[in-house]
Amino acid sequence: VTSPKNVAVLGATGSIGRAGLEVIAAHPDRFRAWAVVAQSRGTEIASLARACGALHVGLADEVAHDALAREWRGPGKLHGGTDAICALVAHPEVDVVLVGVAGAAGLAPTLAAARAGKRIALANKESMVMAGPIVRAICRATGAELIPVDSEHSAIFQALQCGRRADVKKVILTASGGALKAKTQAELEHVTPADALKHPTWSMGAKITIDSASLINKALEVVEARWLFDLEPTAIDVVVHPQSIVHSMVEFQDGAVIAQMSRPDMKLPIQYAFSHPERLGGLDVGFDLAAYRRLDFEAPDLARFPGLGLGFEAIRAGGTMGAVLNAANEVAVARFLAGALRFPRIAAGVEKTMARHRTVRDPDLPQVLDADAWAREEVLRCLA
Ligand code: MG
Repeated sequence: VTSPKNVAVLGATGSIGRAGLEVIAAHPDRFRAWAVVAQSRGTEIASLARACGALHVGLADEVAHDALAREWRGPGKLHGGTDAICALVAHPEVDVVLVGVAGAAGLAPTLAAARAGKRIALANKESMVMAGPIVRAICRATGAELIPVDSEHSAIFQALQCGRRADVKKVILTASGGALKAKTQAELEHVTPADALKHPTWSMGAKITIDSASLINKALEVVEARWLFDLEPTAIDVVVHPQSIVHSMVEFQDGAVIAQMSRPDMKLPIQYAFSHPERLGGLDVGFDLAAYRRLDFEAPDLARFPGLGLGFEAIRAGGTMGAVLNAANEVAVARFLAGALRFPRIAAGVEKTMARHRTVRDPDLPQVLDADAWAREEVLRCLA
């Protein structure tokens, strides 16, 4: 009998974190919510902590932490600030770190988990987009395991178990097409944040839902795949698949294509990242192929959704360009959500920022963070 694995759930109040806590609750003999951490939602993290009995509770935002600390009576020890969260992640009792944080904020805890040699269930694509080679080098040195949770990358990770790495020809990422798939170029000029937030198959946070609508989410996933699986830029393809049943595919040299299929439910890739190489039951994710009647596939439309091309541009340029793509997009999306930007200007602003960037090859972490900071300012000039 082995004791349950201690899981630190980061981004616990978000959709990935909540799904992770459901997986843990379904397997009390296998997993324990050792720590739950959120950015700033004090009331929500307190009630989640009570429900799952976490020993440690964290808020990355120090102001939010101080507010909660005034009324904190436990159970669980309260931690505040990014440094304290990184120390928590690296604690010797932690076995698995679920990084369900959105955006560039996921980089610091991912690096902390990598340095401490943990199993990292990585839902934060931005840390790989910004600093993939750095994260991988640390994992190689410490023995940390990087298991993707992003559904496409989990699918590729699973399909890769079917053959030798040397025999992989390419990977094919599927894209739902997002909420605006059917819009014409003219209609895209007038979509509102509410239009773009209606995702057809996945229920996710606002930022990633806008990224799905612009296909920039897929652009980020192209960069993520490049670094997670050490693929040549020419060995990555994207196909639009509106039903989100085939989560991605790997094509081997002999032409065999291995696809991973399941109902779109993030609990599956999260649980697999926790249990790999084992596969556990406990998920009520019935699969009835006949009920879907048909699965559609089509080439992405780069004229209407130029954001996708930016991912391929970023992996061709390499170095700091991924960080620039990500940072410029975070700022542009925030402007769009605030009603200050037309939808097509998101991709246009990111593209212009990337064109103005002087790529640093093989950057170290400070150079990545410099590129991130530069892009956040430059994109505002490009959008002005
Ligand atoms: Mg995804």
